[in-house]
Amino acid sequence: MSKKDQNLLALEDAIESTYVARKRLFIGLITGTSVLICLILVFLWLIPTVGLGSIHPVVPWIFGSVILMAILLVAWSSLALVLNILLGRKVFLSRKMRGLTIKLFLPLMTMLGRFLNIPKAKIRASFIKVNNELVLGENKQYLSRDMLMLMPHCLQNSRCKIRLTYDINNCKRCGKCPIAGLLNLSDTYGVTLAIATGGTIARRIVVQNKPKFIIAVACERDLASGIQDVYPLPCFGVLNQRPYGPCLDTQVPLEHVEWAIKRFLKKDANRERNVHPTPGTGSDKEQA
Ligand code: SF4
Repeated sequence: MSKKDQNLLALEDAIESTYVARKRLFIGLITGTSVLICLILVFLWLIPTVGLGSIHPVVPWIFGSVILMAILLVAWSSLALVLNILLGRKVFLSRKMRGLTIKLFLPLMTMLGRFLNIPKAKIRASFIKVNNELVLGENKQYLSRDMLMLMPHCLQNSRCKIRLTYDINNCKRCGKCPIAGLLNLSDTYGVTLAIATGGTIARRIVVQNKPKFIIAVACERDLASGIQDVYPLPCFGVLNQRPYGPCLDTQVPLEHVEWAIKRFLKKDANRERNVHPTPGTGSDKEQA
C-alpha cells in the first residue's frame, strides 16, 4: 500500500473516531421506534374492531389488512435502514431511506430518546453520522460549482473586527482562525464558501447559490436541523470543535473538510482545476 493510501486510511479512521455517537445508538433507537409504531398500529386495529364488526363482519378484516400493510411498511423501512447502515450500501427502497430518516424517524427517535434519558446531542450526532453514511452510500460526485461549503460564524476569531457575512473575501487571512484555511480550500478546489450567522441566513445562502451538494460545519443541533431544512439536497455534516464552549472561537479540522471535498468532487473537475496542495491541511505533505 502506498504512503498516500496509508495517509488516506489514517485520515478516514481519524474522521470515524471524531464521532462520539455510535451506529449502535441509532440502530437501537430506530428499532425501538418502529416497534412502538407497530404496537400503536396494533392497538389502533384492536380498539375499534369490535365496533366495526357490528357494521359488517368483513369491515374489521379490511381495516386489519390496512393496519397490517402499515406495520409491514414501518418494519421494512426500519429494517432496510439498519441493513443500509450495517452493509454500507443500498438495499431495496433505500433511496427513500434518507428522507424517511429525516422526516419520520429522527423526530420520533428524539422523543423516544428523551423518554429513555439519552442526551439530545448524542442522538443528533448519531443522526448526522448515519446521514453522512447514507449520503456517502449514494455514491454521487459533483462539479465544484455545484458544491457549497457552509460555515458557522463562530469559526471566526472573536477578536477579529472584519465583517465576513456579506463578503468572506474581506478576510485578511491572518491565520488566527480557520477561515483563512477554508478560503485556501475554496481557492484550491473552486468550491463556494459561505458563512451563516443563523438558520435564516443559511437558508438564504442555499437559495441564492442553488448548490447540488453541501458540506456543512456546525454543532450537533445546527447540523441536525440544517440537514432537515435542506432535504432533499444531500448535505455532508462535519462537527465543529468547541475548545472554549459553544459559539466562541470554534474550530474545524480542515483535513476533514478537504477529505469531504475530495470524496464528492468529480475527478475530472479536480484535474481541470490543476489542484495544488492546500497549506495546513495535510495534502501538502501527502503530495511532497
Ligand atoms: S483569518 Fe484572521 S482576518 Fe480572517 S477572519 Fe480569521 S482572524 Fe479575521
